[in-house]
Amino acid sequence: MSPDPREELADILAQAGEYLTSLKDDGVVQLEVERGTLSAHIPANQPQGDTVEKELAKIAKTVSGCRKCPLHATRTNTVPGQGNGRRPEVMFIGEAPGADEDEQGLAFVGRAGQLLTKMILAMGFSRDEVFIANIAKCRPPENRQPTPEEMETCIPYLKQQIAVIQPKTIVALGAVSLKGLLGLTGIATLRGHWHSYEGIDLMPTFHPAYLLRNPPAKKEVWEDLQLVLKRIGRKAPPVKKG
Ligand code: SF4
Repeated sequence: MSPDPREELADILAQAGEYLTSLKDDGVVQLEVERGTLSAHIPANQPQGDTVEKELAKIAKTVSGCRKCPLHATRTNTVPGQGNGRRPEVMFIGEAPGADEDEQGLAFVGRAGQLLTKMILAMGFSRDEVFIANIAKCRPPENRQPTPEEMETCIPYLKQQIAVIQPKTIVALGAVSLKGLLGLTGIATLRGHWHSYEGIDLMPTFHPAYLLRNPPAKKEVWEDLQLVLKRIGRKAPPVKKG
């Protein structure tokens, strides 16, 4: 009996699906077919296979033992950042861990973090689909801003992470993030305008902690995030009512 062509087609599609999933796992972001030849494109500098996770774990391990600046003396845990390290559409970068983050070793899990989660969900992502990190990896006492020296000492870790993660866009949350990444001041005037960090589109906007103190500014932040969605070719999902 000759095989059922529908079953054959289903088999071929299943095999193609598995093949495409394996390419994605290897960091491939674009495929081109020309005269029967398939070319796979991996972004420059993007580590392949499980190297991304290994590289990020290596950086986190180095951070966990770091004593390069005075912030190591008062921390409970280092907070390297977490999320999707494989070329996420968005990487959010804030200032420094607070009390909750210091306690749990995770970025943006306190009140400001809950607000950031709402912003991420409103954009149509889950927290696991984006990467979330800070300029400084240890909590400054009394939640003060990290000093320029502390920022300068710590930022190489973040830069290593960005080089591994290769996000499509960066959202710099607040003045410290903007200063640390681009050396610029003036978040109120620079927000809402595209900048570039090492060739990656960067959108500065207000920090969620500022929004907790100044809720009307949420409107401006949402405008900035919509610019990010537009840049990556996505639309925010409709708001659920009730
Ligand atoms: S803040 Fe950064 S540089 Fe300072 S001790 Fe922590 S990890 Fe090291």
